[in-house]
Amino acid sequence: MAESMYIHIPFCNRICTYCDFNKVLIDNQPVDAYVDALIKELKQIDPQTLRTIFVGGGTPTALDEAQLEKLLIEINNRFTVTEEFSFEANPDELTMAKLDLLHKYGVNRISLGVQTFNNELLRVLGRSHNYDDIFRAINHLEEIGLTNYSIDLMYNLPGETMADIEDSLKYISELKPKHISWYSLIIEPHTVFYNRIRKGQMKVDDDEAEGEKYMHIIKALDGLGYPQYEISNFSAPEYESEHNKTYWKNDEYFGVGAGSHGYIGGRRYFNIKPVNHYIQSMEQEGTVVKETLELKLKEQMEEEMFLRLRMNRGVDIRRFEEKYGRSIDSVYGKTIEDEISKGNLERSGGHIYLTEAGRLVGNSVFIGFLN
Ligand code: SF4
Repeated sequence: MAESMYIHIPFCNRICTYCDFNKVLIDNQPVDAYVDALIKELKQIDPQTLRTIFVGGGTPTALDEAQLEKLLIEINNRFTVTEEFSFEANPDELTMAKLDLLHKYGVNRISLGVQTFNNELLRVLGRSHNYDDIFRAINHLEEIGLTNYSIDLMYNLPGETMADIEDSLKYISELKPKHISWYSLIIEPHTVFYNRIRKGQMKVDDDEAEGEKYMHIIKALDGLGYPQYEISNFSAPEYESEHNKTYWKNDEYFGVGAGSHGYIGGRRYFNIKPVNHYIQSMEQEGTVVKETLELKLKEQMEEEMFLRLRMNRGVDIRRFEEKYGRSIDSVYGKTIEDEISKGNLERSGGHIYLTEAGRLVGNSVFIGFLN
């Protein structure tokens, strides 16, 4: 049974050069109609108690205060959140007024899209905020007492040096956030970055330099009291992201909004993506158009493997066997042994997990389970 919900806000005040998320520039968009459609979709889910809700995007803080409040009231009317109610926020949009609203309606965690503390790199990324905005937003968070926030960063940025990584680590040691997400920049097709790299106008690190930065980040954050718990996530004790762990544990969740995915009753569903089509489908048909994919047992087991291996504690062997009625070795014994012999996986304490070397080549290990 699903205990988590993701809600998607597909609007941004500016489009970043590397982004391939489901988002549109907010100017001239039917934002009010979108919020109304979202509320209609929420009303189709029975009122209930959930462990976590995550409102992401796009950028949820691109909504104005009236739109935010309307959405928050509806969420509060229908759902009780027992553990984590998270909002993604851009530093320049996290005004005191918006933060007051989030706080008033029970949001207890903020995922702050910092990306880097270097103004020049922020400009290259096409972000709308700068260094000062980051500190202003964090001051607001501290002032209001919403201290459970994640600083979300990227590395492997074009032109980034080790000094930039060191700067970010220095700010982390001073600010003491509860959580850090630190992802390597992925150059996705159909983005401005992709075209610039293709034309030779820009380059990012080769695999070796990227790997060095990654290992440095893991070790340095560990030294600052943020052990790694997932490939790109680090937290102070007791502050791992409960919502994101829903995905990595392969547990079920509702997905609400344009382009959202959900996982209910062994089926993955994918809501229609374009904002206008989403609104139309809610207005005209009273329900969201979605594709549904019923996962066969084999696919469920594959997903269990590669999602759980993202976490440092890896796959719980007994849980796998209880959930699927098969011994893990009867299904994946050869792949597991191959990866152990290559030094990418380890088996101990009833778990199978990536080694340090395995984390550097995680995707190639995951692919081994997709046969
Ligand atoms: S703010 Fe986020 S969702 Fe919007 S364009 Fe930038 S990276 Fe994409």
